[in-house]
Amino acid sequence: DLARMVLTTCPVPGCRHAADNCEVHHVTAWSRGGLTNMDNLSILCRYHNRTNDDDPGKRTRGRIEIRAGTPTWVSPRGTPVPNNRHTYGAMKQLFGTQAGP
Ligand SMILES: [Zn+2]
Repeated sequence: DLARMVLTTCPVPGCRHAADNCEVHHVTAWSRGGLTNMDNLSILCRYHNRTNDDDPGKRTRGRIEIRAGTPTWVSPRGTPVPNNRHTYGAMKQLFGTQAGP
């Protein structure tokens, strides 16, 4: 699918899971009204999909948010941390953003 095509690894820093082991993640949880579109989708590995803080009011383990068009892990303290193992070339080509390293 489209999300899998443009983002090939889990965006959590230090996570090496490839897309084959990843699942589509709704940045705003489906149960909270999140939509299935590129502005609300990321790829997460199964583990980080399970441990993501779907409730922004209960930050315990960090959560994925869209920053500058790029799914980015945000720490429980609210600090976005890029996963430097990523190449966002495909994302830039598609959307012309300056996001990512
Ligand atoms: Zn992961």
